[in-house]
Amino acid sequence: MTPFVIPFFIAHQGCPHQCVFCNQHAISGAVPGQVGADQVREEIAQKLAWPRRPGRPVQVAFYGGSFTGLSRRRQEELLAPVAPYLATGQVREIRISTRPDLITPAGVEHLKAWGVRLVELGVQSLDEEVLQKSGRGHTGRDVEEAFALLRAGGLQVGGQLMLGLPGDSRRRALQSARRLAGLRPDLVRLYPTLVMKGSPLATTFAEGLFQPWSLGLCTSVCAAMKDIFDDRQIAVARMGLQSGAALEADLVAGPYHPAFGELVLSRQYYKMVRARLCAARQKQGAGLITLQLAERDRSLFVGQHRGNMARYQRRDLLRHVEVLFVAAQPRFTAQLR
Ligand code: SF4
Repeated sequence: MTPFVIPFFIAHQGCPHQCVFCNQHAISGAVPGQVGADQVREEIAQKLAWPRRPGRPVQVAFYGGSFTGLSRRRQEELLAPVAPYLATGQVREIRISTRPDLITPAGVEHLKAWGVRLVELGVQSLDEEVLQKSGRGHTGRDVEEAFALLRAGGLQVGGQLMLGLPGDSRRRALQSARRLAGLRPDLVRLYPTLVMKGSPLATTFAEGLFQPWSLGLCTSVCAAMKDIFDDRQIAVARMGLQSGAALEADLVAGPYHPAFGELVLSRQYYKMVRARLCAARQKQGAGLITLQLAERDRSLFVGQHRGNMARYQRRDLLRHVEVLFVAAQPRFTAQLR
C-alpha cells in the first residue's frame, strides 16, 4: 500500500551547490529557513487526524535541499519531533533526500539511529559531461559509492533522474536510466528539466545558449526510461514535478505539463498496443482482429487530446480491428483474438 506522506520542504538548506537548473524556492513553494521543530510536531499531529484508509502506513518526508548537508544539530531538530510518533507506530518511517556526495558511513548511522528508512539521491544523470555541464559537482562514481554505503547500512535507496539537462540526449538519458537500474534502486523519480526564474539556466536560456527539450521529446524519452525500470520491476514513483501555482509562476520555459506522468503512461500504452497489433497482423494476416483492453485504460488508449488515436491512424493500425473495453481485463494488458 502506498504510504500516506507528510511532507516538509527544507528548500536549499544544507546544499553547498548551485546546480544550473535549481531554484528550490520555486519548485517547493517553500521559504528557506521556515521549517522548525514545532512546525514538524504540529503538522504531524494535525495530518495524523486526517481520514485515511485503515492500515495505510504513514511516512514523514523531508524534501528539497540536501538533508545530510545540514549540521547534525539541525538534522536532529527536524528528526527529534518525529521520534515519539515512530515509537508509537503512528509514523512508520522517515524519508529524506540529499546529494550523492554527502553520504558518509557516520552519516548513514546517524540517519538510521533517528529512524530514517529511505534516502532519495538526486542523481539527475550518470553521464559525466551532463553532470559537469549542469554544475552538479559530483560524478557517477559518487552515486555508486553512495548506493553502496546506504545499502551496507541497511537503508533503502531511491534515485531521481532528470531529462534534458545541458548536454543531455535521448541516448545519454537512456544510458543513465540503464546504469541507475543496474544499481537496483528501491524507487525512481523522473523529472523533465524546466527553466525556472532565478536559476542559472534562466540566464543561459535568455542568452540563447540553452534550449529545453520539447514536451513531445521529453514524453517519448521518459516513456523509454520507464520501460527500462518496468522491465526490471523497479518502481517509478513519480514522473514530472508536482504542479502548482508557485511552480507555474516561476516557470520560464521547458516541457511542463500538469499531467506529465499521464502523458508518459499514455505513450507507453500506445507502444504496447502497437507492438501487440503488429505481431497479431503478422500472424493473422488481414482478417478482423478483436483487441480487448481494460475499461479503466480507455483514456490511456485514446491519449490526451486523442493523440494516440492520431498515432494509430497515421500507421493505419486500427483497420479491421474491433476494440473492446472490458472491466475484467487487467490494466495495461491487451488480449487479441
Ligand atoms: S544539489 Fe539539490 S538543492 Fe542543491 S543546488 Fe543542486 S538541485 Fe538544488
